[in-house]
Amino acid sequence: YFVSFEGGDGVGKTTHVRLLGDWLHEVTGREVVVTREPGGTDLGATLRREVLHGEDMDPRTEALLYAADRAHHVATVIRPALARGAVVVTDRYLDSSVAYQAGGRELSEEEIEALSLWATADLLPDVTVLLDLDPVVGAARLSGEPDRLERAGDEFHRRTRETFLRRAAADPERWVVVDASANLDDVQAQVRVDVAARLDL
Ligand code: C5P
Ligand code: MG
Repeated sequence: YFVSFEGGDGVGKTTHVRLLGDWLHEVTGREVVVTREPGGTDLGATLRREVLHGEDMDPRTEALLYAADRAHHVATVIRPALARGAVVVTDRYLDSSVAYQAGGRELSEEEIEALSLWATADLLPDVTVLLDLDPVVGAARLSGEPDRLERAGDEFHRRTRETFLRRAAADPERWVVVDASANLDDVQAQVRVDVAARLDL
């Protein structure tokens, strides 16, 4: 199984990815690979640290860098894991590119989707969990100095959220939407119910 988590900054993706990964290991008995984008590989971690979180850049440059990170992640981590029968749970995947580089940066949604599918050689998750939250609430949950992207502005984050919600509504077979404003335990319980139903666990 291949599961992705999507949503804005501060919705709790990293925590829920880890908790769902632990639970999937218990219920399936399989190896579970918990990973993330950007930065799920050594190359990707360098891109994330040195480039993506650095200076401002042209939106097309940014789109290509996220696609490069993802191509390497899919080729060296995700596909090999799925091939050996592991369950993969990733903190962000290609829908983040559509939401941020198309929705947020206002590039073409069709082009970003096509670029992403080229980068992954058409690998889509079996289920994508959208942790949905008002971006103003998400921003307030973040600790520390906001990075370049977290500082992008309310309108940017509003467009990003709308893009996620629109994609989820357009493809209910792949997506589940969970209200991330509830407390952590309730959100995780809902995530497990929805993912179990999708994967027939
Ligand atoms: O902590 P997290 O992994 O979510 O940080 C990644 C950062 O990169 C976030 O601030 C997110 O807004 C941004 N991002 C982006 N485009 C993507 C994926 C992530 O702008 N395709
Ligand atoms: Mg972040």
